[in-house]
Amino acid sequence: MTHKEYLLIPGPTPIADEVYEALGQETMGHTDPRFTKIYKHAIDLTKELFNTDAEAYVISGSGTLAMEMAIVNTVSKGDRILVVSHGYFGDRFIPLAQAFGIEVDVLQAEWGTQVSLELIQQQLKAHTYKAVTVTHVDTSTGVVANIEQLIPIVKAANALFILDGVCATAALEENMGKGYGSEEAKIDIVLSGSQKAIGVPPGLAIIAFSEEALAARQDLDTVPAYYADINNWRNVMDNPSNYFATPPVNLIYAYECAMKIVLQEGMEARIKRHENYGAAIRRALNAFGMTPLAKEAVAAPTLSCILYPEGINDVEFRAKLAERGIIVAGALAHLAGKAFRIGHMGSVTATVLEHAICQIGEVLEDMGHKVTIGAALKAFRQVLTVEV
Ligand SMILES: *Cc1c(COP(=O)(O)O)cnc(C)c1O
Repeated sequence: MTHKEYLLIPGPTPIADEVYEALGQETMGHTDPRFTKIYKHAIDLTKELFNTDAEAYVISGSGTLAMEMAIVNTVSKGDRILVVSHGYFGDRFIPLAQAFGIEVDVLQAEWGTQVSLELIQQQLKAHTYKAVTVTHVDTSTGVVANIEQLIPIVKAANALFILDGVCATAALEENMGKGYGSEEAKIDIVLSGSQKAIGVPPGLAIIAFSEEALAARQDLDTVPAYYADINNWRNVMDNPSNYFATPPVNLIYAYECAMKIVLQEGMEARIKRHENYGAAIRRALNAFGMTPLAKEAVAAPTLSCILYPEGINDVEFRAKLAERGIIVAGALAHLAGKAFRIGHMGSVTATVLEHAICQIGEVLEDMGHKVTIGAALKAFRQVLTVEV
């Protein structure tokens, strides 16, 4: 990678050279057969990634549009959904669904922890829900959801399982063909965006529907949306020479390229790599006296929310790090100023992470904090099992 800066925020993430190259190709007409072939391939690779024969949609927009598509195409006004929230992005489903007159119940975890399974089970017993939303990795807290256990519970309650994969897709398993506990207990919708673990610039909403989720759309007849109505996109996804709204031609080039990279590495290897990077960088930062918000058992492979040691000013820390070409993000809501968030996903390498650890160590020293950079690097390498 030839970067001037390392963008270690939880998206957008560093872009591989090949992806930039694809992005910079001359713009073709959106119905040019050379382009429609690339677009079709990109959609097919998306289905391959999610292991589904049903339908995938890749359109202009951000992850939030994909969230909206998941809701408006399956749930209608007056229906009730359950939001399982591990932070800021889990909570986003609340006003989003309410904007369409949908009734929303919420189970919120204390930031840094998971909602207890018993609580979810009780809630599902007490009420009937059309759908349950789960954020695979909540980008505000760095908490990963336990979908292995959540899917069977939700499907046993006859609700649709909607998974927000914006900060997880292409780094964690999101296998729509897999039965969890039983053959029928499957993910109904995975929604995502281009700019996180897939490693494409921002601008694409990505979403896959199972047969059951598609049937829910057909049951609704009309929906309170136009651009977000999947019925308007279905013909385009089947055959991209059909027109509904102009696709972002260059982003599709980039996305097709990035998906090839993802599938070439293989999901098994990618999942392992992300788990390993996450564990290793948290151990290293811990050696600097910094504590991850989430306990290791629920900590996400893609990003970490790290609490500052006593006496470190957030704005100053991040500004000094940025001067050294390492960009990390501040924390959200009540954690603002108390923690920072570091992404370790997509095309990031162990070498880049080691570089970031050294820079963080030097900034801490610069701010009058006594740290041993060698100890942090050693901790990193002790945990690291994938090749540098
Ligand atoms: C980033 C993110 C979103 C929002 O995506 P945008 O592309 O900013 O609209 C939603 N959910 C999760 C989990 C995210 O990380």
